[in-house]
Amino acid sequence: MQRLVAPKRPLAIAMLSLFLTACLFLCGCAAKQSALQSVDFFAMDTVMRLTAYGKNARLGLVAAEAEVLRLDALLSVTNPDGEIYRINAEGSAVLSDETAALVGEAVGISGLTGGAFDVTVYPLVKAWGFFSGEYAVPEKEELEKLLRLVGSDKLAFEGNKLTFRMPGMGIDLGGIAKGYASDRVAAVLAESGVTCALVSLGGNIKVLGTNPQGQSWRIAIRDPQDESAYAGIVQVVDKAVVTSGGYERCFEQGGKRYHHILDPENGMPANGGLLSVTIVCESGMLADALSTALFVMGEADACAFWRAHVETFDAVLVTSDGRTLVTAGIADDFSARHDFEVVR
Ligand code: AMP
Ligand code: MG
Repeated sequence: MQRLVAPKRPLAIAMLSLFLTACLFLCGCAAKQSALQSVDFFAMDTVMRLTAYGKNARLGLVAAEAEVLRLDALLSVTNPDGEIYRINAEGSAVLSDETAALVGEAVGISGLTGGAFDVTVYPLVKAWGFFSGEYAVPEKEELEKLLRLVGSDKLAFEGNKLTFRMPGMGIDLGGIAKGYASDRVAAVLAESGVTCALVSLGGNIKVLGTNPQGQSWRIAIRDPQDESAYAGIVQVVDKAVVTSGGYERCFEQGGKRYHHILDPENGMPANGGLLSVTIVCESGMLADALSTALFVMGEADACAFWRAHVETFDAVLVTSDGRTLVTAGIADDFSARHDFEVVR
């Protein structure tokens, strides 16, 4: 008998509401900020909260929510009217400029991360039941067969026309789409004249400007072992803070827990000794893809990867043996109740 441990939707909304309320509290955005406006909704399979300040906040939020819903429809693997559904069903399709550019970015990040991030994991994610919710550990033979369909080198682009080189392939933008959406939300809010906002799309946070008091936003990073506690707080201005964690979606079978971040090398849930990875950088899209990639890489390779890209991003890693590692670029902006190690 398998037991679903991913929280059901109303419970998830309640828990996230609590968490986000705590985030807002940490951000110093107390009720006296009368110009605060916020909207909560469910999209991209997660609970979202957009909070904006100032006179343009309400109109900005209306446009921002519409933008997320547009992207959800466009990029979802389960929406028959979307472009990703269509290419996965047909094996070849002419994509819009926007979707082609996003898939192109994903392929680039796959190359950059040595394949740790790879949107062609679709057949694996499907076999584990993470799209349908009918979770099951695939047989070894099935995984071996599906692994032959994985690899961004098997995607052929001719202009905006994308073709899978092998039948049965598919793409899943679940590891990058929310981050991309957070960038688009920030852009839509800015176009509406909003200069101060906190965008939370599941584990994907993006802040616009400083907080209403003119200080850095204080973003809490969840303790992966305890949903009511924090691993630490990072202070940011105009940045994305994106966390990937095995706790976000998982199930138990035969007394073992299996999560949704898969190692494209072997098709199994990544087991690199990390419980969560948080990436801090300007681009929400890059932060999202890298949080997934570094989770797959594991501690040593993730630290080496950061050392090769210190100008591009920073990270907070929580290890399964209970350590918190913070890269040097944000060490001064990070605080925690317990000791943490600085990665140099
Ligand atoms: P995230 O929560 O951003 O780490 O993304 C996890 C989601 O991305 C999963 O639910 C899958 O849909 C997809 N995914 C899983 N493993 C990978 C991988 N190695 N590379 C790219 N996407 C992945
Ligand atoms: Mg991701």
